[in-house]
Amino acid sequence: MSTAFRWVEQARSGRARAGHLHTAHGIVPTPTFMPVGTVGTVKAMTMDAVRSTGAGIVLGNTYHLMLRPGAERVRALGGLHRFMDWPGPILTDSGGFQVMSLGPLRKLDQDGVTFNSHIDGSRHRLTPERSTDIQHALDATITMCFDECPALPAAPEVIAQSMRMSMRWAARCREAFVPRQGYAQYGIIQGGTEPELRAESVRSLTGIGFEGYAIGGLAVGEGQDLMFSTLDVTTPLIPWESPRYLMGVGTPDDLLGSVERGVDMFDCVMPTRAGRTARAYTERGTLNLRNARHAVDARPISPHCDCLACTRHSRAYLHHLFRANEILGPMLLTWHNLAYYQRLMRGIRTAIVEGTLEGHAARLRTEWSREDWTPDEMPPPDIPPVP
Ligand SMILES: [Zn+2]
Repeated sequence: MSTAFRWVEQARSGRARAGHLHTAHGIVPTPTFMPVGTVGTVKAMTMDAVRSTGAGIVLGNTYHLMLRPGAERVRALGGLHRFMDWPGPILTDSGGFQVMSLGPLRKLDQDGVTFNSHIDGSRHRLTPERSTDIQHALDATITMCFDECPALPAAPEVIAQSMRMSMRWAARCREAFVPRQGYAQYGIIQGGTEPELRAESVRSLTGIGFEGYAIGGLAVGEGQDLMFSTLDVTTPLIPWESPRYLMGVGTPDDLLGSVERGVDMFDCVMPTRAGRTARAYTERGTLNLRNARHAVDARPISPHCDCLACTRHSRAYLHHLFRANEILGPMLLTWHNLAYYQRLMRGIRTAIVEGTLEGHAARLRTEWSREDWTPDEMPPPDIPPVP
């Protein structure tokens, strides 16, 4: 069996696509949501728990891993797959977004970025070549280009200059990338919310030629309408056979609207971060489990969820764990939120394959806008006898 990296279409519905991403580390059905494993761990989760939610690919982070434990150490220990016990595909971000977010701790020039570690203040430098080398040392299945993303709002000239520098960097990243069977490098489309700049960026990147294309510089505070209108002018320009990855997005509603606009891959800290702060995602919107109304509620978080939190525990127990600051609270709720995100993506994927996306999307949106299930709609489960 050939393990060439490629995306194979299974079905389409308008601009939405279902398919499979073939990689050196396994096949991932798309559209897919990638849990964020910043420092080599999906926070509060064992890798078995991550697998049990149905996740097919996870994210690692160049900036964090280069500082601690160091890319060469990860390489010496067998690469990131072995190090974190995730034999499946891993996508690493380039570190660009993190170093740009360091503010006064970093200095940007045409060649790269010099910055001080947020951990111990030590001085480091990232360039397109160095970022690509680090991702190679980590053994990333999908390597991302090192780019710059200006904070929005910014003047169009500022966005244009930044995008053109990122395109020069993308060419250097491609030069530095070592092609291997089943591995990929994605270019990152920039250009803010300016349609002409996005189009120019797509032309530059497809001219260089990558295995996939990411849409960067969105979900940075521009709002959902501008994000969607930017996708509307960007995804149609990307070659159909190339996988498309929308970086750092988003809410369940963002994911649905973006799949409808032709996006295949997502990552976001929302479900994991929310899980550590008592916020649960459900088919009927979000719940705050710290809220007193859950204190004596014997029902699970969601009647549709097969995660450990929902099959074994009540809302009242989760409420108690968060009130008592017990570590099991974030563990169970992160599990639940990731299970919800994977279930959401599976449902959307199935609807595309079965040709029912329009009705499925309408039902999802109606349910999100409804109030929590009433006790009549979801009675507490019968408590099993103690053996
Ligand atoms: Zn659950």
